[in-house]
Amino acid sequence: MSDGTPVPDCLFCKIIAREIPAEVVRETETTLAFRDIHPQAPTHVLVVPKAHHPNAAALALAAPDQAAAVLAEAGEVAAQEKIAESGYRLIFNTGAGAGQTVFHAHVHVLGGHGSLHGTLV
Ligand code: AMP
Ligand code: ZN
Repeated sequence: MSDGTPVPDCLFCKIIAREIPAEVVRETETTLAFRDIHPQAPTHVLVVPKAHHPNAAALALAAPDQAAAVLAEAGEVAAQEKIAESGYRLIFNTGAGAGQTVFHAHVHVLGGHGSLHGTLV
């Protein structure tokens, strides 16, 4: 089980440590939300736990309170970005075969006018 310890060469651990810049939109004691550098929708924000866990399921197993905090923050981001009413999508890519490229748990918050008309699944 992952223990949440920061991983030196992890991109998101570096963003959390402010070693790499990011456009932070929200922060709590246990989470950070920042804009995706390659947005796939008018609003595209990533919410991460500050503790390092390799993916969402590992986070939920090791630290269920932090998994809940990430989901709650995704909702807060949607409200702050004014996409809560129009609707938004939460995506947790898990595994390289599903497109996961950063192995620090994160949820993509995607929304904005006209961006969700196609289906992803
Ligand atoms: P995933 O493919 O689910 O692992 O998502 C990783 C996401 O991180 C991708 O959507 C990237 O565009 C995004 N990303 C990579 N580097 C940065 C960065 N420096 N700042 C913000 N987002 C990033
Ligand atoms: Zn990390």
